[in-house]
Amino acid sequence: MKKIVFESPEHAVIHEDDIPAYGDREVLLKLERIGVCGTDIQVFMGRNRYMEFPVVPFHEGVARVVKTGSQVDNVKEGDRVSVRPILSCGECYSCRNGHENACENFNCLGVQSDGLGAEYFAIDKSYVYPLPEECPLDQVVLIEPFAVGVHAATRAQAEGKTVLVVGAGTIGNFTAQACQLLGAEKVCICDLSEDKVKMAEKSGIAVCLNSSGRTIKEVGQEAFGAFPDVIIDCVGAKTVFPQILELAGKTTTIVVVGNYSEPIMVDIATIQRNELNVRGNITYTAADFQKAVQLMTDGKVYTEGFISARFQFDQAQEMMEFAAKNRGVNMKVVMDYGKTE
Ligand SMILES: [Zn+2]
Ligand SMILES: [Zn+2]
Repeated sequence: MKKIVFESPEHAVIHEDDIPAYGDREVLLKLERIGVCGTDIQVFMGRNRYMEFPVVPFHEGVARVVKTGSQVDNVKEGDRVSVRPILSCGECYSCRNGHENACENFNCLGVQSDGLGAEYFAIDKSYVYPLPEECPLDQVVLIEPFAVGVHAATRAQAEGKTVLVVGAGTIGNFTAQACQLLGAEKVCICDLSEDKVKMAEKSGIAVCLNSSGRTIKEVGQEAFGAFPDVIIDCVGAKTVFPQILELAGKTTTIVVVGNYSEPIMVDIATIQRNELNVRGNITYTAADFQKAVQLMTDGKVYTEGFISARFQFDQAQEMMEFAAKNRGVNMKVVMDYGKTE
């Protein structure tokens, strides 16, 4: 089989390898489509602090089950599945307490270990979720990033709350949609990109504002008349968090979803004296992922127009260059593994 290998920064090649063996509890998958996300771009550039070259990239995938081990009972050969790509150990403190997304041995496919950028992949049965045949690939390839939104909305305890989501890329958009689906009272989303604001409007998010030329505080006050109950940071840039603190009022909950690649200065006193609840957020639990599969396959999530560009397996280098260059404007770049039925 063929697999994509990131060998060094900005250098993707295709290697030949054996089809992987699979154990009694494992399924052998034939990949159909993957999505490229910000993490994959960081890995491609060699800028992700948790990876080492060489690595087989990608973690957002849809596949067909081609073989099942003797103890596999949740899927069968021929099923199309979504892959939950965050492997957890099941034994550490976090895993034992139902926070497997914060596993001490956190292992994201395509970052800490080889990912889905291969024609075939073997994985434990607990990481695959069968999909209805009638759901389009363009929709179900988005389950993994939507699961991030479901987790963020859960961390935000969004039900009945007013929520500002900062950043309207795929994750921000999905986080805002998830907040609405989970019963938030009013959701506003903002971004510097007019295209992303327009996409948010199409996605049915209640209030969509362009934040260019003004502060997050101004945007929040326009949307809510004051500060919202919850602010979710889906950007992760050093100019953003201090502005979020400026908008926050007494007892605001702040959820940090965006990846900060370097430490930043913040005024801790603001957190202390306003009794702010600042919450970290990493990927999703198995329950969040299951909920994401359900909402997506029930057609509750707006995904039309999310696919910005399509590439084929043998165009990995070109695709990653494109994804890196157009990062600010893309929603989702996808790659196919040859013909799909
Ligand atoms: Zn991703
Ligand atoms: Zn663990």
